[in-house]
Amino acid sequence: MIKSKSIFIGGIWHETNTFSTKKTYIKDFKSYQWHEGQNMIKKNLKTNTEIGGFLDIFNQKGFRIQPSLFAAAVPSGIVTKKTFLKIVQIILSNLDKDDIDGVALALHGALVVEGIDLPEHFLIKTIKNKLKKNIPIVATFDLHANLSLELFEICDMLIGYDTFPHIDMGERGKEAAMFLCKMIETEKKPKKYFKKIPIITVPQMQSTNEFPMKEIMETVFNSEQKKDIELISISPGFPYSDIKDLGITITGYGLNSKTLNQECDNLIDQIYKNKNNFSPQFLTINELDKKLSNFKKIKKPIVIADPSDNVGGGALGNNIEILEILIKKKLPGTIVIWSPFLKEKKYKDKYFNGYVGSNLIKDNNKLIKIKGDIIFNKSNFSYFRDGLYMTGQQVKMGNVLVVKTKFNLKIILTENRVMPFDDKHIKVFGINPKKEDLIVTKSGSAWKIAFGKIAKTIFNVDTDDICSSNLKRFNFTKIDNKRYWPLNE
Ligand SMILES: [Zn+2]
Repeated sequence: MIKSKSIFIGGIWHETNTFSTKKTYIKDFKSYQWHEGQNMIKKNLKTNTEIGGFLDIFNQKGFRIQPSLFAAAVPSGIVTKKTFLKIVQIILSNLDKDDIDGVALALHGALVVEGIDLPEHFLIKTIKNKLKKNIPIVATFDLHANLSLELFEICDMLIGYDTFPHIDMGERGKEAAMFLCKMIETEKKPKKYFKKIPIITVPQMQSTNEFPMKEIMETVFNSEQKKDIELISISPGFPYSDIKDLGITITGYGLNSKTLNQECDNLIDQIYKNKNNFSPQFLTINELDKKLSNFKKIKKPIVIADPSDNVGGGALGNNIEILEILIKKKLPGTIVIWSPFLKEKKYKDKYFNGYVGSNLIKDNNKLIKIKGDIIFNKSNFSYFRDGLYMTGQQVKMGNVLVVKTKFNLKIILTENRVMPFDDKHIKVFGINPKKEDLIVTKSGSAWKIAFGKIAKTIFNVDTDDICSSNLKRFNFTKIDNKRYWPLNE
């Protein structure tokens, strides 16, 4: 009997904000997504995740799957060396090098580790060194990947998300798996293209449903229809990272180098022409204060996006500048605030009278006093995402308190940092977003999947935090600032 093909799968997912002082440890991976061995199959089967997509295709093909570890942490500061090396070691310990025909990895592509340059490249190199033969390797990456030439060169194919807010993780996983199967079956690898453009963009200008990214993605899809083109990905990248590989990256694969270069070069021209359309519009906190003075007249629901405190971009989600205004003006609505003190402190009363915000970081000692009825109080609370974003994934909120003020402002305090990828993260507390006057969301663009359709008024506000829309606030030391837009303006 012929033995069926065997595929090694695994991954590490982290978007590292190097401007955060909150380092990322092994416990941060274990408390978010830690799928080891067979558990990786159990947790991801039929989910809209890259691993879910891999499993679909390899199962259809009747291939054997060698699962290792998929580890993910909520975006935060630099990952410690010890943490990363432990993850690499567990991934490798599951590798049966004698019995493997292909490797499929789910990477994010914006991981930064203390003392290890190019960590994703390091992981693949370590896997490769252990393998006996030159078998094909594919990896998926997020639209926020800061891809390096080194990573591009070591992988046979890199497959990036086409959507932001990201809803195509499952599809991209399937695509990566299909290309891997094709390389195994034909024993041929495609021609490749890689180029990086010195343009840095902020998440709220990267939505693929809006101009200019929408038009740029249409060009990508048109090019992919052409004969000899297998795949083109564009990664605008993650700007809050002081590394050498910032900028927009184009990667492409095809059967004919000439056609591939032509299509990718055209795409690059289009991006350059659109450079200024990536400039974000935002209100300052004082401008927001003024706007809200007209609260009664503003069309509701109002969504106030606080991209600067974007949990999905590594900020803490405890910035209270907007909350201060809501309390000062006694405005009704909903806001989520990260409250790590809930880990230790248990509340038995029906009434809350205390301070929120966090003094986790020394220079961020801002706290605000809130008072109100505790309308929800649960330990170790979690739910499963039912939106388009990472559908089926479990969200562990930890200990949760919902405090309702006299003027109907619901302040959701969560022990863990939560990303607003779906409206269930407020619905689970009996809050109907459609009926809210105002929702504050700490997010760049991801919130649009949850609340984009119901928002009648949107205010983008730049608070003073580590995912600011104003990139000139940051000190980039690893790139030539004079070469990079918008730093050079
Ligand atoms: Zn992303």
